[in-house]
Amino acid sequence: MFGKGAIDGLKDILDRRDGYKVYLIDGYFRDRDILDSLPIEGSDEVIFVDTTSEPSTADIDSYRDFLVEVGKGSPSTIIGVGGGSTLDSAKAVANLLTNGGKAEDYQGWDLVKKPAIYKIGIPTISGTGAEASRTCVMTNSKSGIKLGMNSDFTIYDQLILDPNLTKTVPREQYFYTGMDTYLHCIESLNGIYRNAIGDAFSNQAIELCREVFFSEDMMSDENRERLMVASYLGGCAIANSFVGTIHPFSAGLSVVLGTHHCIGNCITMGAMEQFYPKEYEEFFKMAEKQNIEIPKGIAKNLDRETYKRLYDATIVHEKPLSNALGDDFRDILTLERVVDIFKSM
Ligand code: NAD
Ligand code: ZN
Repeated sequence: MFGKGAIDGLKDILDRRDGYKVYLIDGYFRDRDILDSLPIEGSDEVIFVDTTSEPSTADIDSYRDFLVEVGKGSPSTIIGVGGGSTLDSAKAVANLLTNGGKAEDYQGWDLVKKPAIYKIGIPTISGTGAEASRTCVMTNSKSGIKLGMNSDFTIYDQLILDPNLTKTVPREQYFYTGMDTYLHCIESLNGIYRNAIGDAFSNQAIELCREVFFSEDMMSDENRERLMVASYLGGCAIANSFVGTIHPFSAGLSVVLGTHHCIGNCITMGAMEQFYPKEYEEFFKMAEKQNIEIPKGIAKNLDRETYKRLYDATIVHEKPLSNALGDDFRDILTLERVVDIFKSM
């Protein structure tokens, strides 16, 4: 369902679904008006997701354990309301409740064996495409691996895309997360593994991003609507293609320094002129137009061991790196070059 006020349609959908529901809602919305527009009933369970850190496998296990403990382990429906962190948490919990075990057991490709609980996604910030994609990214706190449950069962059954919900997003965050769409799409279009469907989604999403971020007010009603569509199309694009060099470096920042995904991409972009010269220029023009500052120098003065960990956490992303640079990407991205790239962010 799409459009301003579309969230009012949730009640109709849920009225047709017997049994209690479980909501995972971004903690930002605790005590805010949005809760009044959700048809939460006494038998339903609500979990507020703390987005201070991005989801870990331990977080997902603990949400599941809590639901089982309070006797809410078999809901008819799970509803995720929030940004990529919350949407991904809801997807992961829905898989875990029907498949058992631990969240880390399903980090990888097509490891989820049983269909998840029926789930509805309601994004409140646009850009990651988590509402459309077939993964839910989690960091494994023990192994340090940041990887999702890539599976057809991870995809939301229904979506409510209501641009009214993104009005309250802080400007910087709106830009950083919105840019995730732009970056996913330029990475796929510059990759080796391309296909007509991925390209079509990417091209359209990039056009919408340009309209939004070159306009006078990126957060006008029309632009919030456009970015919501761009995010959805961008999610469809990555479901049909691979990212490139930016995301692996950003994942390195995230795993080693705890940098959040979307700001991490933007910081990484500061060192990406050598791989994406045209897009580098366009990206910084958009940031300038919207008066958004991209932090600099976060990986400038680190010790040798930390740089080695950054290198390891970057180079492990074989699929996107070979998509961008070919199978001999390790010869191109030597330890020395990777360290220089981190230093120049
Ligand atoms: P997020 O969910 O972490 O939220 C960012 C911040 O915005 C939080 O502080 C949140 O409280 C706030 N926020 C959200 N909606 C708001 C609103 N309407 N008003 C005010 N504040 C609001 O951010 P994100 O950038 O959307 O998601 C990042 C996560 O998405 C990462 O964990 C990343 O790994 C994941 N991701 C997933 C996919 C996928 O395909 N599944 C793709 C890319 C990224
Ligand atoms: Zn991303």
